[in-house]
Amino acid sequence: MSTIEQFRHETRAWLEANCPPLMRTATAEGELVWGGSQVEFPSDDARLWFERMRDKGWFCPDWPLEYGGGGLDAERLAVLEGELRRLKCRPPQINLGVWMLGPLLLEYGSEEQKRSLLPPMARGEVRWCQGFSEPNAGSDLASLKMAARDAGDHFVVDGTKIWTSYGDKSDWMYALVRTNPKAAKHEGISLIVLDMRSPGVKAAPIDLISGKSAFCQVFFDGVQVPKGQLIGPLDGGWSLAKRLLQHERKAMSKFGEISLPAHFHLLPLLREYLPQPSTQGEHALYARAVANAMDEHAYGLTVQRMGEEARAGEDVSGLMAIMKLTHTEQERDKFEVLLDALGVHALGWQGEAFSDQQLAITRGWLNSYALTISGGASEVQLNVIAKRVLGLPEAKKADGQKGAAV
Ligand SMILES: Cc1cc2nc3c(=O)[nH]c(=O)nc-3n(C[C@H](O)[C@H](O)[C@H](O)COP(=O)(O)OP(=O)(O)OC[C@H]3O[C@@H](n4cnc5c(N)ncnc54)[C@H](O)[C@@H]3O)c2cc1C
Repeated sequence: MSTIEQFRHETRAWLEANCPPLMRTATAEGELVWGGSQVEFPSDDARLWFERMRDKGWFCPDWPLEYGGGGLDAERLAVLEGELRRLKCRPPQINLGVWMLGPLLLEYGSEEQKRSLLPPMARGEVRWCQGFSEPNAGSDLASLKMAARDAGDHFVVDGTKIWTSYGDKSDWMYALVRTNPKAAKHEGISLIVLDMRSPGVKAAPIDLISGKSAFCQVFFDGVQVPKGQLIGPLDGGWSLAKRLLQHERKAMSKFGEISLPAHFHLLPLLREYLPQPSTQGEHALYARAVANAMDEHAYGLTVQRMGEEARAGEDVSGLMAIMKLTHTEQERDKFEVLLDALGVHALGWQGEAFSDQQLAITRGWLNSYALTISGGASEVQLNVIAKRVLGLPEAKKADGQKGAAV
């Protein structure tokens, strides 16, 4: 048996023995485990699964051992991911630090930053939030204004961030700040990390019409951030932000699979509710469902191909925008077909009158729209693809300025 087959054999055996049966089922509403100092477990099995994966170093399987990772190479990582999918294992924890900041720190962090920030992240002890968007800086992120003023051995941070998911529940934030207001728009920005318990930080939840919201607006009033918490070069944060957004897009292209309470398979549901299509409209629904299922299959194959290309040492970073765009739009289209086909059987809100399926589809449907915006809206992904993948010239706005694309 080759060493890689040996690894597959051992991994499969370990997962069979250590992933509790309940953790091999679709995640029900509210059952995602967010790592961090206030981690909560919906069940004993969720705690066990979290602890076992943590102790194995498999929250971050491909990070180096010295920073708390599992030390797996790309080939072994692919085996592990395949085995996790095969057993339909739930993610043991969700953490923006692991998905986005960690990989960036491995590339750009100082040795001291790697040693202090990565191991707690890899143990799921710190919950991270992302402080990028501001009231007037979303798609056009480089317009951000939150200022970090040089005050000797520390920065003084003033301003506000908005749409910060779980800002009120997070321990630390990575944030883009303006460190040089006189420099050109993209050149005076830096990336810092900060403790959300620092004096002067206030996270205010934002109420949404749905009644449920992870969003916060976070206010910073004279917050002191030690200089050692600057990541990468001063005023050089824009290229780090672009790199981090690639990691975010990679995570987002996978998120649909794990954020939904259940993975809905369109065609079986359609057959259940519409076993004998007769009208033109009903046949059209089947045609849309088949097209969506084919797209989903093609997407899965492309993910596999990308994995193989990455393992062969090819640079696949430019494809992240394509994958994020494709996956989030496919998920949204899938829910649109579901809603058109199932009608009232797919719509529900709080209350006993509605089935779990109605609630799950309605939430999934609304969430599918949110996922086409977060991590950069679809239109922005199209701009990124045009510019960075296809190499097309940048569009000019009506006023002659360059268009925005992260
Ligand atoms: C679920 C969710 C979670 C989020 N979590 C976070 C978070 O944790 N931290 C954080 O910092 N932010 C977060 N965001 C914010 C997110 O990054 C922004 O919403 C996003 O970048 C869009 O910015 P905006 O809302 O200001 O919209 P705008 O930038 O005002 O865009 C409005 C519309 O105009 C379109 N548009 C804008 N510019 C162009 C252009 N140049 N060409 C074509 N069309 C354009 C957009 O596509 C969009 O349809 C989250 C958003 C969502 C939905």
